[in-house]
Amino acid sequence: MSVTELTDEQREIRDLARRFAEEEIAPHAATWDRERTFPLDVFGRLGELGLMGVCVPVEYGGAGADHLSYALVLEELSRADAGVGVTVAVHTGAGTLPVLAHGTEEQRRRIVPPLAQGHELAAFALTEPDAGSDAAAMRTRYDEATGTVTGTKQWITNGSYARHVTVFARDGERVSAFATRTFEAVREEEKLGLHSSSTADLRFEASPAERLGPPGAGMRIALSTLDGGRIGIAAQAVGIAQAALDLAAGYAKQRNAFGRPIGAFQAISHKLAEMQTEIEAARALVWRAARLKDAGRPHTVEGAQAKLFASRVARHWTGEAIQVLGGYGYTREFPAERYYRDAKVTEIYEGTSEIQRLVIARGLLGEIAG
Ligand SMILES: Cc1cc2nc3c(=O)[nH]c(=O)nc-3n(C[C@H](O)[C@H](O)[C@H](O)COP(=O)(O)OP(=O)(O)OC[C@H]3O[C@@H](n4cnc5c(N)ncnc54)[C@H](O)[C@@H]3O)c2cc1C
Repeated sequence: MSVTELTDEQREIRDLARRFAEEEIAPHAATWDRERTFPLDVFGRLGELGLMGVCVPVEYGGAGADHLSYALVLEELSRADAGVGVTVAVHTGAGTLPVLAHGTEEQRRRIVPPLAQGHELAAFALTEPDAGSDAAAMRTRYDEATGTVTGTKQWITNGSYARHVTVFARDGERVSAFATRTFEAVREEEKLGLHSSSTADLRFEASPAERLGPPGAGMRIALSTLDGGRIGIAAQAVGIAQAALDLAAGYAKQRNAFGRPIGAFQAISHKLAEMQTEIEAARALVWRAARLKDAGRPHTVEGAQAKLFASRVARHWTGEAIQVLGGYGYTREFPAERYYRDAKVTEIYEGTSEIQRLVIARGLLGEIAG
């Protein structure tokens, strides 16, 4: 099979997501962005289509598809609305999959089905006000005697709407992972973009929490979750960049200057040619990393490469899409400015680009790199 070939099942899932995104999400994206609306009902409907647990096995309520299919879904959703894309990416990749990978069978059977079916939303709470890239500096604590977690987590995607949170806390000298349903969203963040997504601070106050995985496995669970999550964010970046290309290419055919379409100027057509080429390259990196994950092979470096490259492509080319649209690109009449605002964060969350370079360099040079 060639690198660009998909199976029939993968194509069907992508087409299903594309249809839903074009019909049910894209027409509302500008309003949700402007009015900062979290489109809660959309996730119930995505759940009915099996798109809230694409890569979750059928026996746990998911669609039982592979991670490449999941990446295709994230690309299509993000092409319509990057806020919806990140909601699903964090819900499935970061909130649900660690329970599947590290929970007991009883936890899997209890916690995962309502998430995979889209009845409940999940979140992943690692970051704190003083612990971002350096996540191990966290202060949130687990109290063994009471079985509770206490602390504050910051910028938690889905925070105001989630029912299940996979949370990380200091457990004696170590960090462990926990599942909890008891927390309070104390502040909704105001962001540059992704206005249709929820990013909230969560307070845990003697919150009953059950362990996920063995004591002290928290950082290993967090890092392996992020290994997969990065592929999802890279797919999100590809989706945003593709939306910007579709817009810019369409505009270049319609807009006239000096008596001809601006696409007839080589400065514009070659810009679009470069843009399409880099998006295809980013997509190929995403597919490669997803296929390695599906094959059960190491994908830490490949996921980091996909995210590093795809997020740069998205940030750079959404800016150039504004350039193609000229003054109209800078206004809210067209979505180019939304794509630009939404793209930036793909270089920041689930590990900044600096951290991706560190991961890649360590793969190349070993521990002497950083
Ligand atoms: C919209 C949004 C949603 C988010 N969702 C979630 C979520 O659901 N769950 C969650 O847990 N977190 C979430 N985050 C947090 C996100 O993962 C962190 O912002 C990110 O990991 C970076 O941490 P920081 O912001 O504290 O930056 P810092 O770690 O303070 O970094 C600041 C700068 O220093 C650089 N830097 C830091 N360390 C190094 C180093 N060793 N080498 C080189 N450069 C370095 C960084 O790259 C960056 O440029 C979200 C953030 C945003 C903005």
